[in-house]
Amino acid sequence: MKSIKTKILLLIVSLLLLLQAISFWSTYDSLRLKEKLAIDSQLSKANALFQSEFNRRGFYLSSFAETVTNDYGLKSVFGEDKRSVAIALHNHGKRINADLSMVVTPSGMIELQLVNSQQGNQNPKVVRGEQQGQTFAFMPALQQNQLPPYYAIGNQLYQLHLSAIKSGPAIIGWVGFGYEIGPSLAESFLSQTGLQTDFILEQQQTWSLLGSSNPDANVASAKALLSQTNSDVIALHQQFSVAGEGAFYVVLHSSRDNLVAVIQQSWVQILLLTALTLFCSMIAAYLIADDITRPIKLLVKQAKRLAAGDYQTPVSINDRTELGQLASEFNNMQEQVLSREQAINHRLNHDPLTELPNRNWLANKLTQLTADSKQPFAMFHLNICRLKQVNDTLGHQAGDQLIKEAGKRLSTLKSEHYLCHIGADEFIVLLPNVTRDNVQQHLQLISMQMHEGCNFQDMHLQLQTHVGVALFPEHGQNPQELLQKADAALNHCREARSHCYIYDPSADTNTVERLSLINDLKKAIQNNQLTLHYQPKFSFAANRITHVEALVRWQHPELGMVPPDAFIEIAEHTGQINPLTRWVFLEALSQSLAWKVKGVDVNIAINISGENLKDDSFYSFICQNIENKQLAAESFTLEVTESALVDDPETAIALLARFKKRGFKLSIDDYGTGYSSLAQLKRLPVHELKIDKSFVQKLAIDADDAIIVKSTIELAHNMGLSVVAEGIEDIESLRWLEKAKCNLAQGYFISRPKPAKELYELLAQESIEFAE
Ligand code: C2E
Ligand code: CA
Ligand code: CA
Repeated sequence: MKSIKTKILLLIVSLLLLLQAISFWSTYDSLRLKEKLAIDSQLSKANALFQSEFNRRGFYLSSFAETVTNDYGLKSVFGEDKRSVAIALHNHGKRINADLSMVVTPSGMIELQLVNSQQGNQNPKVVRGEQQGQTFAFMPALQQNQLPPYYAIGNQLYQLHLSAIKSGPAIIGWVGFGYEIGPSLAESFLSQTGLQTDFILEQQQTWSLLGSSNPDANVASAKALLSQTNSDVIALHQQFSVAGEGAFYVVLHSSRDNLVAVIQQSWVQILLLTALTLFCSMIAAYLIADDITRPIKLLVKQAKRLAAGDYQTPVSINDRTELGQLASEFNNMQEQVLSREQAINHRLNHDPLTELPNRNWLANKLTQLTADSKQPFAMFHLNICRLKQVNDTLGHQAGDQLIKEAGKRLSTLKSEHYLCHIGADEFIVLLPNVTRDNVQQHLQLISMQMHEGCNFQDMHLQLQTHVGVALFPEHGQNPQELLQKADAALNHCREARSHCYIYDPSADTNTVERLSLINDLKKAIQNNQLTLHYQPKFSFAANRITHVEALVRWQHPELGMVPPDAFIEIAEHTGQINPLTRWVFLEALSQSLAWKVKGVDVNIAINISGENLKDDSFYSFICQNIENKQLAAESFTLEVTESALVDDPETAIALLARFKKRGFKLSIDDYGTGYSSLAQLKRLPVHELKIDKSFVQKLAIDADDAIIVKSTIELAHNMGLSVVAEGIEDIESLRWLEKAKCNLAQGYFISRPKPAKELYELLAQESIEFAE
């Protein structure tokens, strides 16, 4: 892929090259023109010089010849004394350094012909010309004064002017002088024009080189210049007629390099300049392209950073163009993505209601903490009791308020801690450096913090929690194990209805066991593994046992006696509570009949679960069976906890009303652990309140509990309800309750739950005296 930088660079370089090419071409063109002009001007100057030189020589030769012909001395001896004429001719010729001197007689004979045998030589020697004594070939032209000035003798050419010597009007002869057209003339032209000069003679197709300024020249090279085929050499030639037949050529020439040496100098400069400009332009182009693409590169780099999830580093481009704007948009976008990511991160790791870290956060923290196995810590799993009831009775606002209050209180724990809100009513607190040795004091601290009441819209709510504790590394090496153990501890807490519980491996009904219990429970109902124990209720008024509560027991073939707390919840969650309650009811009916036969008239209380109240056929099943056994509904009490009414209060209350109408006694079980006020209970169709054992157990020692129980009894009576207290474990509590006008008393002090046959004696007693 080509980068933008390369593209810009290519574009600028191409444009530059184009511009350079155009400028170079125009320079080239003008230089060529200049060159041509320079050549033309040099040649034409040389030509003019050459012409004027020839004219000047011609004029000089003719003037001199005329002067000589007028010489009286010569005239007097002319035609008479050949020797004297020869001497005079020689002397005249010497005066002008003539290369040729001639005398032609009127009859057309060359009478004298003196030739300078070695032109240019230091010692020139005058010899007799080869034509002396011969006929002058061009008499007619001479007589008509039309003789061409170029005259050849053998291979020599002369510029010759002949002038007539007259005696009176008669011409007595011709005298003439000539200069040779040869090497020395060529050299003289070279020095004047700077051009090489060749003289060529052509006679009857025979070419000869008369002379050349160049010592290396020959006929062929000189002749070639006439056709000018070689472009390296610039030549100019002139053709002149030679007397008689033939032609004489003057060739002026020079190599092109010589002619345009200065211009060629400019060529070198221009090329150098062009190369330099091109080089500089390319560097400039590179820098420009780099300057343009640098911000783009930064933006690309930034985009890659963003793609890689780096939102921290902003991009900095000092540029006021769109790229600068783009960079600032990038930074804006980055900030927004960052803040959005932080918000998402926060949401991912925090609970929206309390803004406390959530389960996600906890998982990471636990991974961190468990990685360092040297530092022990304790995990407290807290659960707010009966939150659902608060939501249902007081509204979700109240529930939320309660959760927030719990979070607030937990966050004020003094020591270093990590607090998470992991579910609606569940919190986890991690306390580093808390071990088995000091866990109790921290539990107390948490309890104190949590169990203070709180106000919601002028209403006093009791904030109660269960706390399950697991210790690291004692109870689990990894987060999952620890969470499981803390959860198991919390479940144990719930089942035992205690405030807190530290995980105990021996009491852990682990999941596998729990699963097998679910499977086994179904068989247990069918295979008669269940039995009923009965716990008596003592009537203060009658001073004897008038009621019993039926409590189910499971004799498991392998596990032995399984307590109801361990399987009732399972039965409720797996849809088996309906057959279980029906079984308990049928069993209680049979027992009621059996006791009746033996003369024992006792009311039997049966625990009813919330699930039973949702069962459409439950009412008809119960009534049908009572009728079948001809038993009175008044002999049975249905114990229902407040929590059993929570899911669908209307249907549940309507059903309870039907049972009440049919004659059954109805009792609110575990009263005081829920959130219902007595005023709210008024709408429930019940006869009886059963105060929860947690208030009764410490009645004798806890003044607060005593006040609660006492006022509850009074209020219940005012509302026309009778009161049962469960969990009486000592005589003091029994006495206290008697004084407080409690109607029925139930607890280990009176009797533990027992099989029916073990109770017969107690039930048959007319009155009971309790030992102090
Ligand atoms: P619950 O209905 O509140 O029953 C009273 C529980 O308190 C019984 O435990 C009983 O043994 C215990 N208890 C009685 N007096 C005292 C005392 O003085 N001190 C102490 N610490 N405890 C005392 P149990 O039999 O283990 O039953 C536990 C729970 O199981 C019952 O609580 C009830 O909610 C449930 N349950 C038992 N049988 C049935 C049943 O047939 N149907 C349903 N739906 N639930 C049942
Ligand atoms: Ca009960
Ligand atoms: Ca109870």
